[in-house]
Amino acid sequence: MHSKLVIIGSGPAGHTAAIYASRADLSPVMYEGFLALGIAAGGQLTTTDEVENYPGFKMIKGATLMDEMRAQSEACGTEIVTQTVGKVDLSQRPYKYWLNPMGDEENLEEETHTADSIIIATGAKARRLDLPGEDKYWGNGVSACAVCDGSLPIFREKPLVVIGGGDSAVEESLYLAKKASKVTVLVRRDVLRASKINARRLSTNPKIEIRYNTSGAEIKGDEGPRGLMKSMVIKDNKTGKTEEIPANGLFYAVGHEPATFLFKDQLKMDEDGYLITTPGTTETNVAGVFAAGDVQDKKYRQAVTSAGSGCMAALEAEKWLAEQEIAQDGPEGDSEVKKGKPQTNGDVPEYRSNPLL
Ligand code: FAD
Ligand code: NAP
Repeated sequence: MHSKLVIIGSGPAGHTAAIYASRADLSPVMYEGFLALGIAAGGQLTTTDEVENYPGFKMIKGATLMDEMRAQSEACGTEIVTQTVGKVDLSQRPYKYWLNPMGDEENLEEETHTADSIIIATGAKARRLDLPGEDKYWGNGVSACAVCDGSLPIFREKPLVVIGGGDSAVEESLYLAKKASKVTVLVRRDVLRASKINARRLSTNPKIEIRYNTSGAEIKGDEGPRGLMKSMVIKDNKTGKTEEIPANGLFYAVGHEPATFLFKDQLKMDEDGYLITTPGTTETNVAGVFAAGDVQDKKYRQAVTSAGSGCMAALEAEKWLAEQEIAQDGPEGDSEVKKGKPQTNGDVPEYRSNPLL
């Protein structure tokens, strides 16, 4: 199959790109993934309960928000394929890609597909530590996103724990300290990785206690299917001594893993594996290949920022594809029609490409 524009990934970035690209008549094909990275189609928001910071919704279930985005992408004309892209070849145009038949990461389908342009929106996955009790209390005390979950009533005026010593751990701890009775930060070494200024902000906050050389050992809480986390066993890494501390919440801030292994040695990435885009754009180092959402953003990592960059990627892909057509047809060709100029007799088209781009 050949497509003008392929979108890989189905979180807020992918769906926003799909909505804009469909409305620009690019007939995008989205590969939403079949449990790619172990995450359901729809992305990270399908792993959370309530979202309270996506504009337009005071509160919406993460899965419902993603169902709505999917329905909108389809209604606009996106073809959505429930398969995972298992391999890409960006060395020449049209770009080639192959699918994993059943989400299986080892086997590739034989059929080769091609695309003129690709938007990568494969997202990222928050690292977890697989502590005993983690699965049981995930969503009932354990989280990997303070900004997303920290305002929930179960955490208000309660003792909370953050694991990590980087800038995210600092930001999450400071955010949580505004609501919690106390925040204990577990740092595995005797030093923070965070910037000096962030380290100072952390160590001078009266509601925050930093425990160096300390790890989480077990998460404990109420029994039963909706039982809440109540305490945590922590371990001194030097002496091996364990201790149980009260904790109604545990927030992991031990880094994220961007889903970029497909693009290794093909696209420029930073030292943590995030795709590098030209600042202020979603352009990667390969012409016609754009990246949006968490896969290229280690700083904000929010649904709304992902959606914003998905929009940018679609507008930039539209412009790039139009330029390729002009180059092929020559200035006297029929590029005006292909660029999306109205073929109507004076009717205003619903969608107009942005003349500023
Ligand atoms: P993702 O949401 O990561 O989606 C990427 C999708 O692409 C996934 O479904 C993945 O399976 C798929 N994919 C990956 N590789 C492939 C492939 N090769 N082929 C096909 N498909 C592929 N943000 C907020 O703004 N508010 C919140 O309340 C909030 N709560 C959160 C709660 C939790 C528990 C987590 C983990 C995150 C939360 N976030 C929240 C952050 C937000 O979910 C992310 O910033 C956002 O989802 C990133 O969107 P994305 O489109 O970049 O990718
Ligand atoms: P990070 O810098 O990689 O820090 C991860 C932290 O988790 C480190 O302290 C690490 O410990 C710890 N960790 C990792 N695995 C662990 C384990 N198994 N057990 C216990 N602790 C573990 O990740 P991040 O904080 O998410 O930041 C990612 C990038 O985004 C960084 O470049 C950061 O500067 C940037 N960022 C910037 C800002 C800002 O500027 N405001 C905000 C957020 C993020 P070690 O130190 O021992 O490895």
